Amino acid sequence: MKSPSQTHAIDFDSAKLQRLGFGQVPALIERPTSVAQLRQQMSLQLQTSLEPQRILGLFFREIQRLVPLDALSYVHQGSDLRLEFGSRGHHSVSYRLSHEGEHMGELVFRRNHRFNEKEQGDLESLLSCLLYPMRNALLYRAATQSALRDPLTGAGNRVAMEQTLQREIDMSRRHVQPLSVLMLDIDHFKRVNDEHGHSAGDDVLKAIAASIKAQLRNVDMVFRYGGEEFLILLSNTGREAAAMVGERLRHATQTAEYFADGRLIELTVSLGCSTLLPGESADSLLRRADSALYVAKREGRNRLAMAG
Ligand code: GH3
Ligand code: MG
Ligand code: MG
Repeated sequence: MKSPSQTHAIDFDSAKLQRLGFGQVPALIERPTSVAQLRQQMSLQLQTSLEPQRILGLFFREIQRLVPLDALSYVHQGSDLRLEFGSRGHHSVSYRLSHEGEHMGELVFRRNHRFNEKEQGDLESLLSCLLYPMRNALLYRAATQSALRDPLTGAGNRVAMEQTLQREIDMSRRHVQPLSVLMLDIDHFKRVNDEHGHSAGDDVLKAIAASIKAQLRNVDMVFRYGGEEFLILLSNTGREAAAMVGERLRHATQTAEYFADGRLIELTVSLGCSTLLPGESADSLLRRADSALYVAKREGRNRLAMAG
């Protein structure tokens, strides 16, 4: 017998989405004729993601069809979110975003020449496109935070690390961009616990996680890998640049002041760095970073070693 109801299949293939205005953004060739037009296009694009990083990345790219920029940064303390796009600029305009009394973060636009009044008006008008996508992304982030975050340090947990690493590996392949990882382990951390107690050790772990995050452009790329071990993913970063970031982290830890039980203690970290090889698996990339970390420990600690 024939079923009385009919089911129609609608396949949202990429071509169809493209025609509707969703999907891949075309290269920045033609400038839109008006703010209204750009707003309409952006509204469609920005609702295709729940990731703040992706939403703001698209926003940064698209907004430049009307207002050229050198950099965009976004900070939302409440969800421990800090993102940066582009490089620095001398002039800046910043906006605190809020919706119905709820703080939604602060955006800073930067560039090397002054913003005129018309451009500031355009920026303000285009900012409204961010409201609902960012609100949804922040809500989604709050909902998933407890499942994907380490409660002590606020860094991503293992589950988050595995998801993000696989996604970054896929992206790196698709866009033919380098990807590097840093495996960081606190030197002689057991001594901190032995000499000052486990709770003081916990405070130090928190402080170290905070200082790692303070050195990075995207705090979502820091994961607590083990007890006193952190993994940092560096997207679009090759071997030399990753070595520089690793060295910066090492130096920052060595020069920062950490307190255990109110007493100043000296701390250092060791790091291992690996860069994704063609066709390499996530496991192998991590294994190579781990072996490099082992070399750094063996060679005396407070240093960075590169995977071969
Ligand atoms: P190394 O320089 O070789 O890394 O020495 P280490 O003492 O840091 O290394 P080891 O692996 O021997 O010890 C790690 C210590 O980290 C042991 C454990 O008590 C401590 N640790 C792991 N997780 C936590 C935590 O969540 N809180 C505290 N307070 N300590 C932790
Ligand atoms: Mg360890
Ligand atoms: Mg250690």
